[in-house]
Amino acid sequence: MIKVGVLKESGSEKRVILLPEGVRTLQEMKTAVWVEAGAGKEAYFQDGAYKEAGARIAEKGEIIENTSVIIKINPPTSEERNAMKEGTVLIAILQPLSNISLIDELAKKNITTFSLDCIPRTTRAQTMDVLSSMATVAGYKAVLLAASHLPTFFPMFITAAGTVTPAKVLILGAGVAGLQAIATARRLGAVVEVFDVRADVKEEVETLGAKFVEVEGAVDEARAGGYAVEQTGEFQQKQKQLIHNHAVKSDVIITAAQIPGKAAPKLISEETVDAMKPGSVIVDLAASSGGNCEVCKNNETIVKNGVTIIGESNLPATMPVDASKMLGKNIINFLKLIINKGELNLDFKDDIIKNTCITQNKEIINESVKNLFMKTAKTF
Ligand code: NAD
Repeated sequence: MIKVGVLKESGSEKRVILLPEGVRTLQEMKTAVWVEAGAGKEAYFQDGAYKEAGARIAEKGEIIENTSVIIKINPPTSEERNAMKEGTVLIAILQPLSNISLIDELAKKNITTFSLDCIPRTTRAQTMDVLSSMATVAGYKAVLLAASHLPTFFPMFITAAGTVTPAKVLILGAGVAGLQAIATARRLGAVVEVFDVRADVKEEVETLGAKFVEVEGAVDEARAGGYAVEQTGEFQQKQKQLIHNHAVKSDVIITAAQIPGKAAPKLISEETVDAMKPGSVIVDLAASSGGNCEVCKNNETIVKNGVTIIGESNLPATMPVDASKMLGKNIINFLKLIINKGELNLDFKDDIIKNTCITQNKEIINESVKNLFMKTAKTF
């Protein structure tokens, strides 16, 4: 019977990768589960609940020593990596393209790694897509953060003390996070405008009750698998100007634009921030990949000319209960793909397994990670 180990996250991370209900499901799959003491505590799932579900509670070292599949959210700490034995399977959100030296180290230690952020965005993989789950949490929380910093109401009010006009919210990028931000801002009663380079999303945006602002001449690439591609310089200039015109009239801007594998597109210039109304708020969800706003600082909240710019890059950790529930479902669905009758079953003909596996047999086997490694290996 295969043994899966759940490690406790470190630092300010409050989420946990598996819930007690997930322990039950794994047992039905003839899989034993060892959970590090306190792993779910910050998300309000106590050791007792894991034990009751059939897990064995143990210390970190014991788990790494005795289990063959380790699951966690964030990349392993140096303590965890040093304790890992050859042949261990590690499943986590490793962001391999940004953590290439870590991947090289894991390959050399002969750890088989699966990176959950590399799960393809296909219909079959939807139930395992951790990026979509966490973007949903981030899009929702971004709006609540903006609302709590905004010195005005979101909804329109007609009261005896006068009429309050609704907040104007501008959302850049209508992917998973952006769509959730639109829905949340609309529920709070704001008037919402949206920019995206993919014309496909116009209908979805309008269904949610927002106005789609089109910039002509966007490059839309069907082969990009539903993701955006980089735009021409001329388009970027035109878009920046139009965004500027809408930004200066907005109370809140939520930026959620990304192109996979690239730095975040810069959509809001410093001049635009300077021209915005004092008291307005920008939440830049792309802070960790350089920010969509030129003046955003990762994991900081700054105020420039009265405009608050929030660059919080781990919003899902601020909602640990539901974020962990979603991650727990995602990981169970992934484990169902690689565990069969209590044994590990890696079928590399399966596109989800192939795309997600980063290292095996001391080698980096994921093509794009391998290519980046070849280009950058000399620098570390
Ligand atoms: P996604 O790929 O689903 O959506 C990105 C959207 O941006 C796409 O619709 C794309 O067409 C659009 N886009 C690309 N270039 C654009 C441009 N120049 N102008 C307008 N739109 C453009 O991504 P997602 O999962 O929704 O994530 C969005 C962002 O949120 C990412 O940067 C992601 O890292 C971030 N995120 C942040 C947190 C956090 O806690 N801060 C958590 C999860 C995700």
